[in-house]
Amino acid sequence: MIGDSWIQTLPFERKMNCKYIILVGDGMGDYPLEELGGKTPLEVARTPYMDELALRGRMGMARTVPESMEPGSDVANMSLLGYDPAVYHTGRAPLEAASMGVQLDPRDVAFRCNLVTLEKDEAGIVRMLDYSAGHITTGEARELVDSLQQAVAGSPLKLYPGVSYRHLLVWPGGREDLTTTPPHDISGEPAAPHQEVYRSESVLLDFTERAEGILADHPVNRRRVSEGKRPANAVWLWGQGRAPSIPTLKEKAGLTGAMISAVDLLKGLGVYAGLDPIAVPGATGYLDTNYAGKVSAALKALETGDYVYVHIEAPDEASHEGSLSKKIEAIEAFDARVVGPIAGGAKALGRVNLLIVTDHLTPIHKRTHVGDPVPFLLVEDLNDAPSRRAAGEAFCERVARQAGWELPSGVELFEHFVGLTSRKA
Ligand SMILES: [Zn+2]
Repeated sequence: MIGDSWIQTLPFERKMNCKYIILVGDGMGDYPLEELGGKTPLEVARTPYMDELALRGRMGMARTVPESMEPGSDVANMSLLGYDPAVYHTGRAPLEAASMGVQLDPRDVAFRCNLVTLEKDEAGIVRMLDYSAGHITTGEARELVDSLQQAVAGSPLKLYPGVSYRHLLVWPGGREDLTTTPPHDISGEPAAPHQEVYRSESVLLDFTERAEGILADHPVNRRRVSEGKRPANAVWLWGQGRAPSIPTLKEKAGLTGAMISAVDLLKGLGVYAGLDPIAVPGATGYLDTNYAGKVSAALKALETGDYVYVHIEAPDEASHEGSLSKKIEAIEAFDARVVGPIAGGAKALGRVNLLIVTDHLTPIHKRTHVGDPVPFLLVEDLNDAPSRRAAGEAFCERVARQAGWELPSGVELFEHFVGLTSRKA
């Protein structure tokens, strides 16, 4: 099999002075779509930079989500960072807490607290209209969260503001063993069955009910509605857990470097991995993010460090919205504004290993994540990698699968990427 023959010839020893760049298009992977003639968004998007790199790299598929786990970005990205989620994952919210500078004590249970839009349909059923409250701005969200402090007053709960719709609730001495639902998994569905869980704990029920009361007539929401935008009319708790215990990448693999993402979850993973979580001004986690700022932060980080993780959230957001055109636009922007400039800029850095990957698939028709294996493209020694394949073999799910290199975990992909595995017989 082709896959095995090149596994045998990979130079797995860690090279001195090698730099490692991983570029993650969140949720970029998909299934073949009828409306695209049986192709995927990654396959039809115009991606000249990835296509050129595909000629010089090795493609394959990796299972970033262990079969027994939920296919969240927390699990998948932890895996790409080289940590087995089955061992280290305790929940999404504690990772976000780290990014927000919120110190969790061992008794604390952190919850992600989304600002969401619920809407009553004609039959009177309240549905999850928007898990992001119309991608509410951080400024508006800050005003709302300030007002929501009244909803935790007198309770043990602590509420911390984050970016856009993503906030944090800490429950000292709380329960982590509750079955909560990621709101982006239930777009358009009735909310009540998933809110039942709050009823089992009066402290959470009180908070969510008081919050809805405060949000209902809030000036920020009145203004949003008058501008034709979605109001943040409810809070949604999920992703809870206690602080995990994770060795740094320096301890694990001798690597130092940076995490570049707009998203607190990723920055928090970076904090636990011992990476510098770089705040790039104007990084939004959406199509309007500051791509150039992320690129220059990544290249700058490699002047001193040896590893950089660049995470682009927009393809995932477009997939959750179910917008095929935005998903393709997001993939094209990832290629033109991240992959191209980074691959070009990294030429000056000497020996560079580049890994392009999606953390998980977010099929546009499912509008949520699935745990199927993900396609990846690994270019070893960006400056010297010879062309190994005919033009037209672009980076996409189909070609990556045909390459026949299947890795059972993100941890193995990480180990190949940074050269930690031993040569296979
Ligand atoms: Zn993701």
